[in-house]
Amino acid sequence: MSRVLVVEDEAAIAELITLNLRHAGFEVVVAPDGEVAQNEVDRVLPDLVLLDWMLPGASGLSLAKRWRGQQRTKDLPVIMLTARAEETDKVAGLDAGADDYLTKPFSTQELMARVRAVLRRKAPQALDSAVEIAGLRLDPATRRVSCEEQDVKIGPTEFKLLHFFMTHPERVHSRAQLLDRVWGDHVFIEERTVDVHVKRLREALSGVQRSQMIETVRGAGYRLTQQLANAA
Ligand code: CA
Repeated sequence: MSRVLVVEDEAAIAELITLNLRHAGFEVVVAPDGEVAQNEVDRVLPDLVLLDWMLPGASGLSLAKRWRGQQRTKDLPVIMLTARAEETDKVAGLDAGADDYLTKPFSTQELMARVRAVLRRKAPQALDSAVEIAGLRLDPATRRVSCEEQDVKIGPTEFKLLHFFMTHPERVHSRAQLLDRVWGDHVFIEERTVDVHVKRLREALSGVQRSQMIETVRGAGYRLTQQLANAA
């Protein structure tokens, strides 16, 4: 399930956002200030952050800047929420690395549309849309993987791993990144766990002649390639 971190000190707004996101199938964690938000991000990398600008302590703007500056969080999708509607503020928010900007008061429809748009662009694995590469099809809504009408039997972790690979093809992902993005835990799970599940994933895909799609990149990690001919 996709995880959204809501950093908002106004309880009523946080609750409204939470209700809507949960209704749309997201897991929601609320942080009332920057410190709690940072702790949460350190613990589990969310799929998206809704970040209020005016917070007690560190501002949302400074949090966004900090996250953009760090390797682990530089691609974290961030939507800034703010009561400010000034053009200069909007620019400052986007300069700080926010992916989008929502001015309060906003409609929940607009909020959800922007959440989906940012996820589509930056974290498509967090959405329920089916993906298809080289005949291999994965449908998060039905949790099915198939290849040319043939079902692929696959475990839940391998499913998540394949989903992440398929939504980020041709890119090399380190074991640490995969733990963060697929397992949601980069601290307490050993990196060789990734190797175990990649091996299982390849076994599952071998039944439909697609195991070569998962490549090992020596010293770097793993990658899903759609160039089947080259990979075979
Ligand atoms: Ca606030």
